[in-house]
Amino acid sequence: MREYPRPIQNLVTLFTYLPGVGPKTALRYVFYLLKQPKGTIESMSRALHELQQAVTSCSTCKTYTTQEICEICLDSKRDKTMICAVAHPRDIGTIDSAGFRGRYHVLGGTLSPIEGITPDTLEINSLFQRLTNEPAVSEVVLAFNPDIEGEATIMYLSKLLKARNIKASRLARGLPAGSDLEFADEVTLGDALHRRWEV
Ligand SMILES: [Zn+2]
Repeated sequence: MREYPRPIQNLVTLFTYLPGVGPKTALRYVFYLLKQPKGTIESMSRALHELQQAVTSCSTCKTYTTQEICEICLDSKRDKTMICAVAHPRDIGTIDSAGFRGRYHVLGGTLSPIEGITPDTLEINSLFQRLTNEPAVSEVVLAFNPDIEGEATIMYLSKLLKARNIKASRLARGLPAGSDLEFADEVTLGDALHRRWEV
């Protein structure tokens, strides 16, 4: 990249820390920002500052919150017998909009020894501590991506949960609505066939 004034270079470097953003895109963002009204940039820098100052992890479920305990954990209408374990805070919105009404536990990722993500780097101890503190929980839904890391995490957690006599369940694999049988992969189709139900 040719030499730009230092404030431009600095921000370009910072933007490249974002996922999927290379130097060219970063430079485009910086040029775009330079054309924005002064107030927009001030609001953005205030929002960034607030992000770091105000956002913390829920002491119970580890999702992002601005309080000690998040709104979902505080919601007394939620089913106290079920916890859905997810990899990331963003998964909560997805599972919740699908109709889940229990509570959640955010692990912060899925097991991947190659990338150094071992059980002790995830919020697994806090999950089991929570199960000790909350004896009403009888089922943990393991809602991870159906990839190698997700499967490894399901295997690992399901063993530990069974040893505690807590039901471990996983999301069923199925055919996406509006899809074509011809294009379904064998694993998904095999699973869908295995878990068929009477109509
Ligand atoms: Zn919470």
